[in-house]
Amino acid sequence: MSLTMNCPICPNTPLTTKLLESELSAMTCPTCSGNFISTENYGHWHDSRTEAHASDQSTKEPLTLTSTEPAPKPKHCPNCNAPLFPYRVDQDLPFRIDRCSHCQGIWLDGNEWEILKSRGLAINLPRLFTDPYQHALQRAERKQLHETNLRARFGDADYDRAREFKAWLDTHPERPAIIAYLSAEEQ
Ligand SMILES: [Zn+2]
Ligand SMILES: [Zn+2]
Repeated sequence: MSLTMNCPICPNTPLTTKLLESELSAMTCPTCSGNFISTENYGHWHDSRTEAHASDQSTKEPLTLTSTEPAPKPKHCPNCNAPLFPYRVDQDLPFRIDRCSHCQGIWLDGNEWEILKSRGLAINLPRLFTDPYQHALQRAERKQLHETNLRARFGDADYDRAREFKAWLDTHPERPAIIAYLSAEEQ
């Protein structure tokens, strides 16, 4: 790791060392509070965590994002200058976290680390970048978008009614016959 790393967002701003957790050293930007976590440091912290610690995750208080909407221009890794790729982390979290395509270092804007921690996601960051996790997230998001669209189209009351009816229909032994009855032009 080079001695001087610059913030991938703020021009010509060197990152400084900061302890994110007692055993987790990161490089932080004094201007935007973003944090760069190397794979080595993350691995060290992750390995140092005992099973007992693993449950100290979810705090109930909701955290709101301090960072602004990320700049549209691509970010580059402060460690090796390879492109950083954005990854969604959860359905209802509006931000993406960045990972280096080369050294796998992780860049977190503002207080994203605290938010990930409050969700219990910080303890297993590598899982968030896996295909199964990302695909499951995309499926869940598509489903939610579909529901949102239907709700907007039907209206809340009718959407709830339709959903209730569908739930009843889906387990009904005469489902095909009922669908045929509903779909028939003339009764
Ligand atoms: Zn910065
Ligand atoms: Zn890198």
